[in-house]
Amino acid sequence: MFPLGEPPVSSPGLPSCNPHGGPPIYGDCWYNCTLDDISGEDKRHRLREALGQTADWFKRALAVEPVKGNLRLSGYSACGQDGGVQLPREYIEEGVVDADLVLLVTTRPTTGNTLAWAVACERDQWGRAIAGHVNVAPRHLTAEAETLLSATLIHEVMHVLGFDPHAFAHFRDERKRRRSKVTEQSMDEKLGRMVTRVVLPRVVMHSRHHYGAFSENFTGLELEDGGGRGTSGSHWEKRLLMNEIMTGSVDTRSVVSKMTLALLEDSGWYQANYSMADHLDWGRNQGTDFITSPCNIWNGAYHCNTTNFSGCTYNREAEGYCPIVTYSGDLPKWARYFPQANKGGQSSLADYCTYFVAYSDGSCTDTNSARAPDRMLGEVRGSNSRCMASSLVRTGFVRGSITQGNGCYQHRCVNNSLEVAVDGIWKECPEAGGPVQFPGFNGELICPAYDELCSNRPVSVSEQCANSCNFNGDCVNGKCLCFLGFHGHDCSKSELSRIHLYSII
Ligand SMILES: [Zn+2]
Repeated sequence: MFPLGEPPVSSPGLPSCNPHGGPPIYGDCWYNCTLDDISGEDKRHRLREALGQTADWFKRALAVEPVKGNLRLSGYSACGQDGGVQLPREYIEEGVVDADLVLLVTTRPTTGNTLAWAVACERDQWGRAIAGHVNVAPRHLTAEAETLLSATLIHEVMHVLGFDPHAFAHFRDERKRRRSKVTEQSMDEKLGRMVTRVVLPRVVMHSRHHYGAFSENFTGLELEDGGGRGTSGSHWEKRLLMNEIMTGSVDTRSVVSKMTLALLEDSGWYQANYSMADHLDWGRNQGTDFITSPCNIWNGAYHCNTTNFSGCTYNREAEGYCPIVTYSGDLPKWARYFPQANKGGQSSLADYCTYFVAYSDGSCTDTNSARAPDRMLGEVRGSNSRCMASSLVRTGFVRGSITQGNGCYQHRCVNNSLEVAVDGIWKECPEAGGPVQFPGFNGELICPAYDELCSNRPVSVSEQCANSCNFNGDCVNGKCLCFLGFHGHDCSKSELSRIHLYSII
């Protein structure tokens, strides 16, 4: 997909910065660079390695109708942003062998905390990007940021491939007709503000399965409204997708969801391999209300409203705290979840929602990063430990000032019940959750409900559709609405011959 390697001739006149603190040499570099802004051989090497991994990932995740012959680029103007990159003459005259997309990658300094950016700069007759410009800031090409770099590159290439409002206008349906509707903007009464949602068929379908939202009230997946130009409208809403790779901020725990692959497939340019999607925990099986309601009425695991107590993060994998920020100005009306208009969560991308955020040493599962478990409280950390509310304390000892707190305790799912252990003694939990006691301890451990830790909590059968509509249709209130080209009560019949149309890029 990407011909890895340097262009045949290095183009002269690229903007660069003077390492000795003097004025910038070329016109595109508008601030004083420091040493961190220079990409030396080590940084370039790191980037090249990461680009190779990125290319491999996309080769497995997406297929495209192969370009016949060499990929010819027009090169009318420089490709990309901030001056762009002049295409090498060979790419225009002879074209590029065995390529479906050419990415021109630069390492120019960026201002602020922008890690990287990317744009598509040339499209084929169907609107698919065939050339793009990706820029990664040298100051972020450090050894420490290597995992972050991989996630960042996948994120940026997704933008070039189609996760971008400019690309949405070129999206095609199964019959290669231009799609009339990719997003829908409307005033949302429940959320109290304008909302832009992606209404593409596969995006909606995979969202329904992820959130367990099989009601007609769910119409599309929200795009980010915060973050300003460059973020708003071109990412998933962080409130709903949290650590998904196409939200407006990427970190080392970012995952690629089926919804993102679905968006690219719905472009009409690619076929997605959904087995390459990661498991997204946030919002899983939380139902239609989770997506359509403001976050202050979300259920307990996803919402916190006090700074006084620590609690468990939504998936119980860590102990966390509830960050509430006092802002100098008032928050927008729709984001006022507290009596004080200037109080709210720390992330504007996540709509100022407040939820438990893991302490840096608070993981229940990762023993390397976490602090030592408190033996007096019977805590154990490890892969099968989860955060639970507890007032346990070894007999003869007194718990600190907090009578009810939380800690990390082992759990297992056996014979349709949840069991928890303290000091190696396993006890069965009530199905709906609730207190259990242990010999040698005062106080109690509060079990989570069975569903929370032991099942994928399948949404009630009445809401689901026959054979999940074979993933060829949208399931609404128990009925399949088949995608174009599919029919039958479970969308199992197809009129499209899906023969060797695609080859892996
Ligand atoms: Zn982005």
